[in-house]
Amino acid sequence: MNKKTLNKRRTSSYKIFDNAVKRLEKVKEKAKSLGIFVDDRKLLECSECGLMEDIDINGRLLTVFEKAPDKDTGLRFEEIKNSKTFRCPNCGKVVSGKQELLNDIETNNWR
Ligand SMILES: [Zn+2]
Repeated sequence: MNKKTLNKRRTSSYKIFDNAVKRLEKVKEKAKSLGIFVDDRKLLECSECGLMEDIDINGRLLTVFEKAPDKDTGLRFEEIKNSKTFRCPNCGKVVSGKQELLNDIETNNWR
């Protein structure tokens, strides 16, 4: 195989990969629009009121309280800083999507 053919093959492999990534992104967007949990963050839980995210058997994201773990409240955590910070739709507490809950000072700022 000469160099030209090799380069052509590399370019077409890259295009195939690139197209696959683009298609995957579209699938991800579609799934998200259907309420399916596709993010790679941890599930959120509010330490203030106990509202927590869960995923049903169909992969759909829902929120429940511990006392009624099978009943979707219909509430959804609101994303406020590039998927890193969320606001509890029930009590308003700011919850970090990454690790721990933010400290109380930051939580009280928005109120
Ligand atoms: Zn809460």
